[in-house]
Amino acid sequence: MSYDTDNIFAKILRGEIPSEQVFQDDDTLVFMDIMPRVDGHCLVIPKTPCRNVLDASPAQLAAVMATVQRMSHTVMAAFGATGVTIQQFNETDGGQEVFHLHFHVLPRHAGQSMRPPG
Ligand code: 5GP
Repeated sequence: MSYDTDNIFAKILRGEIPSEQVFQDDDTLVFMDIMPRVDGHCLVIPKTPCRNVLDASPAQLAAVMATVQRMSHTVMAAFGATGVTIQQFNETDGGQEVFHLHFHVLPRHAGQSMRPPG
């Protein structure tokens, strides 16, 4: 599968559409999900083109997962959460809708259910 340079997250990376960005380093960017399933729901992406995990290099995965771990601590503290759910989807049949690698980081509380997608 190829990488579509016109996907929404590529446009966010190029600054062509707005996003609520909360962290970045040399290799990764983090912004809030536009349709959050829980308060504090954010997305971690690599800055370089990558369709999904199936397409990722070890270096991309290492950089993204380091930021996922960092943001897990950050959003748990910021939202007073006692747990964190990390989600990731690959290809249409795996539930992927935006075809730039991303991990969902969702701070969680006891007994809390997630809002449905969309
Ligand atoms: P997935 O590909 O993981 O199934 O879903 C894509 C995720 O991206 C969804 O949670 C959706 O709410 C989010 N999303 C889609 N379009 C935008 C956008 O333009 N901005 C932001 N911040 N999030 C988006």
